[in-house]
Amino acid sequence: MPIVSLTDVTKSYPASDRSGVSVNAIDNVSLDIEQGEVFGIIGYSGAGKSTLVRLINALEPVTSGTVVVDGTDITRLGERQLREMRLEIGMIFQQFNLFSSKTVAKNIAYPLVVAGVPRAERKRRVAELLDFVGLSDKGRSYPDQLSGGQKQRVGIARALASNPRILLADEATSALDPETTHEVLGLLDRVNQELGITIVVITHEMDVIQSIATRVAVMENGRIIEQGDVFDVFSDP
Ligand code: ADP
Ligand code: ADP
Repeated sequence: MPIVSLTDVTKSYPASDRSGVSVNAIDNVSLDIEQGEVFGIIGYSGAGKSTLVRLINALEPVTSGTVVVDGTDITRLGERQLREMRLEIGMIFQQFNLFSSKTVAKNIAYPLVVAGVPRAERKRRVAELLDFVGLSDKGRSYPDQLSGGQKQRVGIARALASNPRILLADEATSALDPETTHEVLGLLDRVNQELGITIVVITHEMDVIQSIATRVAVMENGRIIEQGDVFDVFSDP
């Protein structure tokens, strides 16, 4: 059974002008992501990638269709159940989204505080996460004192704090130089291989998909225009 399954999903937004014509940010998309894989979603700006991420994370309701995450149709859940479900999904972002006024350790601990995890358990877990991402000596630093690659490693540690089954990476390397991108992709590969976490990589960069994903969906105008093994999709005829 796929860990994420979208069936005939459409998401429309009201027209931003007076035309009255709504915009289908996602237009009848069906997609299966298998447990344990690294799945890439690629497309130009405006293709609908971020909207798709918000639908998988249930940050926004679908207009029609179903989104099944880990066996549950999330389009039918109430707010309380959605909050629980979101713990299964970690997210990392292009701009890292760290709290600049909190230390690295506090940033990583944040989801654990929200989830009501006791302090001793939080400390243990944060130390373990810092070690996993190679930042054991940076717990007391502030985000501004870190390089971009280090910031994203903190973002990854925070996303892993609640033991998610899925990690959504939304343009997570787009603000990084090629060398740092390579380093962060290496860490994501370990998240997948060593922790068995399913990763969805959303990007406009083909080489990112080629270096880490096994399957890919190509989006254009809210639709998936092609999907399959990375090698097949990107081999020019
Ligand atoms: P991508 O992430 O691939 O750049 P988006 O999902 O951000 O694409 O956007 C897809 C389309 O949906 C675009 O035409 C965008 O203008 C539109 N869109 C996205 N979010 C909203 C919103 N909240 N309200 C209205 N239109 C939106
Ligand atoms: P706020 O309303 O202040 O943004 P949130 O609880 O929504 O508070 O998010 C707190 C921080 O965690 C933000 O920086 C946000 O970008 C980040 N965040 C949101 N969702 C997730 C997630 N699923 N996994 C990890 N970090 C997240």
